[in-house]
Amino acid sequence: MPSIIPIYPVGITPETKCGFCTNSKCCTYITQHVPTPRAKNDFDHMLWQISHQGVQYYKDTDGWYLLVNSRCNHLQKDGRCGIYDTRPQVCRVYSNDYCEYDASAEDGFELFFDGYESLLRYCKKRFKRWGKE
Ligand code: SF4
Ligand code: SF4
Repeated sequence: MPSIIPIYPVGITPETKCGFCTNSKCCTYITQHVPTPRAKNDFDHMLWQISHQGVQYYKDTDGWYLLVNSRCNHLQKDGRCGIYDTRPQVCRVYSNDYCEYDASAEDGFELFFDGYESLLRYCKKRFKRWGKE
């Protein structure tokens, strides 16, 4: 159950909600669960990945995730899915009960690295001798 009860404009129901969502946020990125990074080499690799456009990292209660901001090729201009009847399972099980229309996913992150600089800062804090050996 969501901890916050969203208040919607008149006319929004679970069936119509996505039609009110102007940026279809949930169709504009992919995520991939990754093993918990522990060693300097792990973070060095992540720094390479996050140096690329649209790549970010976050950690939530389920662990670490690679986040790639990339709009789905099937998302149509009107916000509809171009392959709705055959869309992948991950899209089918995604519920709009309490989604990014209601609150930013970042609200649930324990750690969020929006780019190279923020991850590098974390590396320097975590490894006192980062870059010195
Ligand atoms: S599930 Fe939520 S974020 Fe995705 S299109 Fe619908 S309202 Fe928008
Ligand atoms: S396949 Fe359809 S529902 Fe899934 S991310 Fe792409 S546009 Fe969205």
